[in-house]
Formats: sequence, C-alpha cells, structure tokens
Amino acid sequence: MVDLQAAGQRAIARCDALGVAPYSDSHTGLYRAWLTPAHRAAQDKVAQWMGQAGMATRIDAASNLVGRYQGNMPDAPALLIGSHLDSVRDAGRYDGPLGIMLGIECVAALQASGTRLPFAIEVIAFGDEEGSRFPASMFTSRAMAGTLSAEALDGIVDAAGVSVAEALRGWQLDPARIAEAARRPEQVIGYLEAHIEQGPVLEAEGLALGVVTGIAAQLRFEVTVTGRAGHAGTSPMPLRADALAAAAECVLAVEAIARADDSDLVATVGRLQVLPGATNVVPGQVPFSLDVRAGDDATRDAGAAQILGRFQAIAAARGVQVQAIQVQDLPASPCDVHFIALLEQAVAAQDIAPYRLVSGAGHDAMVMRALCPTAMLFVRCDGGISHNPAERAHAADAGVAVAAMLDFIERLGATRGT
Ligand SMILES: [Zn+2]
Repeated sequence: MVDLQAAGQRAIARCDALGVAPYSDSHTGLYRAWLTPAHRAAQDKVAQWMGQAGMATRIDAASNLVGRYQGNMPDAPALLIGSHLDSVRDAGRYDGPLGIMLGIECVAALQASGTRLPFAIEVIAFGDEEGSRFPASMFTSRAMAGTLSAEALDGIVDAAGVSVAEALRGWQLDPARIAEAARRPEQVIGYLEAHIEQGPVLEAEGLALGVVTGIAAQLRFEVTVTGRAGHAGTSPMPLRADALAAAAECVLAVEAIARADDSDLVATVGRLQVLPGATNVVPGQVPFSLDVRAGDDATRDAGAAQILGRFQAIAAARGVQVQAIQVQDLPASPCDVHFIALLEQAVAAQDIAPYRLVSGAGHDAMVMRALCPTAMLFVRCDGGISHNPAERAHAADAGVAVAAMLDFIERLGATRGT
C-alpha cells in the first residue's frame, strides 16, 4: 500500500531542496539554465533519487537524464514519464521538477510493492524546456522525439556568446551526435507529463488535478527595430528615427491585436533591449522578443501575420526598419484521445471530478507527440502563480497526483496484458 501522504511530501520537499544553491546559479532566487553548473548539480542529485527508487540512470546524447525501471521483459518498450529540470530566472520551485519527482514516486511505489509491468517505465529529466539561456527551447525533448538535427544548433548562442555546441562539449557531449538521443517509436508506448497548471482554473474549480486535452500552438520571433542613433540634445524631433519610440508602438500594437481578438489568441513582448542605452543618445536599435499562442494553428498564424503587418506599417510611418525572424514554430499538440480517457478514469478513481483543460503554456509533451501518444496531468498551484518565486504547490495534491498516475499506469498495463 502506497503512503500517498509521504510520497506527496517527499516530491514537494525535493523540489524545495533543488530551489537553492548548488542547484541554483543565483543566490537571490532560483535560476537553473540548461548545461550550467546548477543543472549538473541537480542532475546528479535527481539521479541519486532515481537510483534509490530502483532505476538505472544514464545521460543521453542530448544531456537528458534518463532513469529506467525495467518491465517484466528486459527489452520491453517504455512508458516515458518526464518534465524539465531547467528553470526561468527567479523561478518557482515546482515548474518542471514536480513532474520528475512525481514520476520517481510512481516508480518508488512500484518497486516497493515488487510490481513489474508489461512495459518499462523511464523517468526523464529534460534540459531546456524554458529556453532561458539560448534563444530557442526544447532542444533536448526534440532530440529525444527525433525531430532535431545537429544543424539546428548552428549559430545559436547565449548572452555570453557561448554556442549550444560549445556548451554541449563542456558537458563531454558531442553536438554532432545530438540526434542519437532519438528514440525509436517501437521502444516507446507513450509519454506522461505531470506539471503544475501555471494558471488559476483548477484552484477556482476546487480541484487538485486536471486532465489536459492539448497544448496551444506557439510562434516566437526575434524582432529588431533599427532607427538612427543621435545626440539627445542636438537631434531635432522631426529629423529623428527613434527605434525605441517605434518599438513602443509595436508593443502596444501586439497587445491591441491580441485583445481585439475574441478567440484564445495571446501575444506577448517579454524582453526588450535599448541600444546603445545611454541617457543622452536617441535609441538607434531595439531588439525585442515576440511570443504568439492560440489553441489552434490557424488562429495563431492569423494573429502573428496581423501583428507583423502592423509592425511594417509602423516602420514605414516612422522611417525605421523592423525585421522579424521566426525562431520557433510549435504547432498545437493535442493529447492522445485514448490516454485522455484513461487519465480521466484514473482521476475519477481518486474521487475527483475529471476536468479537461487546454494548456496555454508550452511543455515537452508537445514535442514528444511526434514520437508517441502523450498525456498530461495538471496539478493545482496557488493563485495560478508561476515563473515567480511565490509559485506554490501542495503535498496533498502531489500525493493524489501520484495516486492518479499509478492508476493510469495500472490501467495502461491492463490494456496491454500482463
Ligand atoms: Zn514547465
């Protein structure tokens, strides 16, 4: 019999333990980016916990930590249970790690009861879901799903000028071989990810868990407004080409277009830089990020096209140039219909009304869909707050998540024969 209370408490306590140095590279909050010392330290610690739960661990060619709990046949295909170990800056402690810890708790429970299934279970700790170090994300899950080529790494550098290839080499990994992390579809029966909701819906509904039906489509652009730098005292207003003033108009256009749309379209400028960035200089160049999402690809694409069209109109009116380079295109990713049904039964078995929701946030699950059927379980978090040190999830909810995941695993086993 699984002690769910203890399992939930341990999962939360482990996320908390990973929230400080050496598992964070910041001393003022949590920051654990891909291929950093904090990432390495966290991997070592999580590998130890995986080992205690009965898993054999390895690091794959894309830097993912993989723990395998064998099925009743040594070469049985695996159910993958995963989430990400990396974080944004000033992160919460549960976004990502909680899904990994819940996977470890499932395996620990199976091991404690001596249960072997007709499939293996592999718990995966992905490396770069957030994209907080390099201007692209989900390289490590894309490598595992078989949708990443080594060429995709070319020219991608972090703020310090370190390329992805150099960072991988620093981890004794060969960037030319990153695609070797790809799994063969016949090795994998599915992917299950548990994650905090990062939204307020479950809390408002009074539910500990929710069943995700799919993940919203997402586009990201790197936009650069180029005007003309000049002396703040001697450049007359009519003769200026102020890149920041133009960028400000672009930012307001992004908000206005998404607000005016009555679908689930959302659009955000989350990072903006002013160059050269001096009090007495008219800004000459302003690079900024643009993130556009919607529940389906067509809505997202139409929204992005409207925004980019408006940028050009603003550029023409102000005599500046606006260049937008698409750096990410993640299509909408529906979860597997059969898995959704199994997960709903597993949630209902915990006396929780099954509640369906779409994820507005991207997750490794959206990438893994290229490899296998996917399922996602959302866990309630306080106030929907995430990407914030105030992020909070509860041991009782984590415990019931473990119960639902184990029930899902059992039901999956029953459909495949024991
Ligand atoms: Zn996450």
